[in-house]
Amino acid sequence: MKPLVAIVGRPNVGKSTFFNRMIGERVAIVEDMPGTTRDRLYGDTDWNGREFTLIDTGGLELGSGIPVGQVGLTGQPGDLMDHVMSQAQLAIEEADVIIFMVDARSGITAADDEVADLLRRSTKPVVVAANKADNAERRLDVVEFYGLGLGEPTDISSIQGTGTGDLLDRIVEAL
Ligand code: GDP
Ligand code: MG
Repeated sequence: MKPLVAIVGRPNVGKSTFFNRMIGERVAIVEDMPGTTRDRLYGDTDWNGREFTLIDTGGLELGSGIPVGQVGLTGQPGDLMDHVMSQAQLAIEEADVIIFMVDARSGITAADDEVADLLRRSTKPVVVAANKADNAERRLDVVEFYGLGLGEPTDISSIQGTGTGDLLDRIVEAL
């Protein structure tokens, strides 16, 4: 089995956009878990000759039939945030490296802090990817994400494809 790299983070930060850029049509497995249909997408890829399996968590979190409750303190609907946290916990258990994706446009949110707290308590390597850093100004702003306490953030734009090479370098170094 290839090493597992899981992408975690709150909804809408761009996890699936990054996953699709990396995996494209090569989505290998769609795993059905009880209570959450087609929740995690798996795809094999490689970088600098290192092969690994990338996991997109929360694949169908919106419009998936998962009941969405009231908006909680994190600004995310309660059930949705439970879902994000359980995906982060699963990643801690099974992944070899975790990509913690955040949104460079919004800065650190309460939901990001909650996920970061969980990740800091694990011993698994975490690489912080500040996505949507689409221009020079946004790339400078990502230093804010040092505040998550998970090391140096890597700025990427999953739409433009910038920064993804640096992120992948860091991922394979941590494998
Ligand atoms: P997920 O919920 O974390 O899987 O996020 P998605 O991949 O579905 O993306 C959420 C939204 O952010 C979509 O409208 C994407 O087009 C947009 N998005 C993703 N990556 C980027 C990026 O690098 N820059 C910008 N500006 N938007 C992005
Ligand atoms: Mg998604």
